[in-house]
Amino acid sequence: MSNRPVIVAGGGIGGLATALTLHQIGVPCVVFESARDMRPLGVGINLQPNAVRELGDLGITEADLDRVGLPAKEWALVGLNGNDIYAEPRGRLAGYRWPQYAVHRGQFHLLLYRKLVERMGPESVRLGSRVTGYRKNPEGGIRALVERADGSTTSADGLLLIGADGIHSAVRAQMHPAQPPIHWGGAVMWRGTTWAKPIRSGSSFVGLGTHRQRIVFYPISHPDPRTGLSMINWIAEVTMDNNEGWKQKGWFRPVETREFAHHFEDWIWDWLDVPALIRQADCAFENPMIDRDPVPTWCDGPVALLGDAAHAMYPTGSNGGSQAIVDARVLGAALVEHGVTQAALAAYDARLCGPVSQLILRNRGAGPFGLLNLVDERCGGTFDNIDDVIPPAERSEFMAAYKAAAGFAIESLNKAPPTIPSGARARAVA
Ligand SMILES: Cc1cc2nc3c(=O)[nH]c(=O)nc-3n(C[C@H](O)[C@H](O)[C@H](O)COP(=O)(O)OP(=O)(O)OC[C@H]3O[C@@H](n4cnc5c(N)ncnc54)[C@H](O)[C@@H]3O)c2cc1C
Repeated sequence: MSNRPVIVAGGGIGGLATALTLHQIGVPCVVFESARDMRPLGVGINLQPNAVRELGDLGITEADLDRVGLPAKEWALVGLNGNDIYAEPRGRLAGYRWPQYAVHRGQFHLLLYRKLVERMGPESVRLGSRVTGYRKNPEGGIRALVERADGSTTSADGLLLIGADGIHSAVRAQMHPAQPPIHWGGAVMWRGTTWAKPIRSGSSFVGLGTHRQRIVFYPISHPDPRTGLSMINWIAEVTMDNNEGWKQKGWFRPVETREFAHHFEDWIWDWLDVPALIRQADCAFENPMIDRDPVPTWCDGPVALLGDAAHAMYPTGSNGGSQAIVDARVLGAALVEHGVTQAALAAYDARLCGPVSQLILRNRGAGPFGLLNLVDERCGGTFDNIDDVIPPAERSEFMAAYKAAAGFAIESLNKAPPTIPSGARARAVA
């Protein structure tokens, strides 16, 4: 194996899953991360069974995941009248061989970081190092241009560069200089966490409301045995006029709950008090629901995009983090098959870019929340019995189509062989 490493730009969930995979298959790598330190940023995120399977193959166990989250048991959509529109079991209860996990994004991210440092040492992640661009070496390989936190610049040579630098990716901007700006469809999300009693199954994802205004909430910790309270992740969401584009500063800013709680002041039922949930939050952040238009390729010779840099999508399908992990594993499988070569990146691109780009557009059309759009079209959101509005078979078909597109259809996932066979190594390249 050449002593030049694979360079990974970005140490988020996608970049760290990539580095763990490269280490597993014997490929030297180094991660450049712009943040000066790794802190537990963000709130809740779902890891779908396809991603939990890959994490298991990376030696990240369910016991590890239980320390940063809990298995999800149910996914439910509820109308403003408090009646179910749709509910289904999740994870093993639904028949998957692997659970779905609802986790704290920041704690899960730190879990991946700790695993990487344990396996590859602290030098494997260069903090305070922002990749600003790349140059393809005429004799092969790649030079990544890096800006340090103190403003000084340096560069690093590698065999390949993986741009896992998120939705504002510098690698993608160079690869696709004519890409349109970030796309915002008008929905604003306020996210936070509150310690509260979990409802329904004890680990249910609940989307309550309409296609234009809803609250989504689910626990992301096992209940505290002393109090019975779990950390509940919630996302309060309102769609507004986006004619003038996103005017606020920043894409993920801390906010006071009073800035948005008024949208939900009447949302009180005997089983749920939304204003109280919001009021008692430990933290709250505002972010617009944004994505990027798909690009025709994630590859430029020895450079490939991965995770949000490749396919930032609306979180309606709860699969952005999961897809980043799956990307890392599909990339690893391509490196095993083709060696550490541009051909491997081309194979990875050929396998994922097309279908995942379709998923971006599907999520833009509301993903699984599209059922709420149907309810609105057919009855203006008011119903007594949902069966009169959308028959059960139609609801099930709608959800099955989404899962198939997102790669977590039960039967096909259960019978698929491992993405990377146990013990596989990438072959040496001259
Ligand atoms: C701070 C933060 C909080 C988040 N909170 C949530 C949440 O609460 N819920 C949710 O569903 N999703 C959240 N997300 C998004 C979610 O984590 C991603 O959609 C998903 O995990 C895909 O991960 P990724 O690694 O591709 O991208 P990201 O998670 O965005 O990671 C990209 C990483 O690259 C680093 N980076 C950026 N530019 C450069 C550069 N030029 N050079 C080097 N490093 C760079 C960033 O600091 C970051 O660590 C959050 C993302 C971030 C960065």
